[in-house]
Amino acid sequence: MIIVMKRDATEELVQRAAAKVEKMGLKAHVIVGTERTVIAAIGDKREEMRESLETVPGVSKVVPILAPYKVASLEVKPEPTLVKAGSLEVGSGKCGVIAGPCSVESEEQIVQTAQAVKAAGATALRGGAFKPRTSPYSFQGLKEEGLKMLATARDETGLAVVTEVVASEDVELVAKYADVLQIGARNMQNYRLLEAVGRVDRAVLLKRGPSATIDELLLAAEYILNEGNTRVMLCERGIRTFESHTRFTLPLATVSYLHQKTHLPVVIDPSHGTGHAALVPDMCVAAVAIGADGIIVEVHPEPDQAMSDGYQSLDLPTFAATMQRCRAVANAIGVQCGAEI
Ligand code: PEP
Ligand code: MN
Repeated sequence: MIIVMKRDATEELVQRAAAKVEKMGLKAHVIVGTERTVIAAIGDKREEMRESLETVPGVSKVVPILAPYKVASLEVKPEPTLVKAGSLEVGSGKCGVIAGPCSVESEEQIVQTAQAVKAAGATALRGGAFKPRTSPYSFQGLKEEGLKMLATARDETGLAVVTEVVASEDVELVAKYADVLQIGARNMQNYRLLEAVGRVDRAVLLKRGPSATIDELLLAAEYILNEGNTRVMLCERGIRTFESHTRFTLPLATVSYLHQKTHLPVVIDPSHGTGHAALVPDMCVAAVAIGADGIIVEVHPEPDQAMSDGYQSLDLPTFAATMQRCRAVANAIGVQCGAEI
């Protein structure tokens, strides 16, 4: 349920009401909005709890949260959330641009890519060091060596680093080097991993599982939010359908739908969503046009030499040209796409 505080409720009254919620055995999430402060009380509740909370000083009303997801819902926080992580800003009129190779392959490769994507207007660098591959015989990533190379690329360019963490036991290690922890599509329902990233002070990019519904994605986000991490970005990266001409099917309506259900920002991944470099530029532009809060794009200096996902990676000039098109659309709709150039 949501405890809506009175407009003039002091910080002390908010804290007292939150303490009362916790004393009832529920978890209290205090959400300070521009209009009012609310407390989301999550847990196994009973009717008499609602009645007794309504009498707490400073409380205006207590209402149930109808959506199955709670802290993620617009009912709890009607204003869009802006997620900041170093140079990356995603949401609330800022369309972040995360670009870089599927995998970190060498220091030279990642630094060269970071410099080029930054010059083209990207606001964060992506690159996998721990790779969840469909086949155990495919390249699995450079692991900690790769993380160190990403940190070097950040030192050289100032770009925030987005990289995947595949297991709970690696969260601490990856968080040491990364600004944003990516939860891959295959791990969207790895609930222990979601809880683990919910407990660290790093933003999280949560990818939709290819067979997961939107409600399942939001409930997965709820696992992270519930641990107290508020910097969660949702990522549509395409779903499995009967269509075989594209690697996955990329539903851009997910952006509009999620904007009507959650305050969390929505990032589109046209690289995995289409699986073909030739389709990626148009889908980047379309994502910006539909109001996505960010795009994540695979970019490689030599896509045909890439150790993973080269066929869906843009080369450096194509990425720069795509950014120009994205900026033109963003300007037309009053959004800031990527860095100001
Ligand atoms: C990736 O970003 O390289 C990746 C593995 O993505 P996904 O988890 O969406 O397949
Ligand atoms: Mn990839």
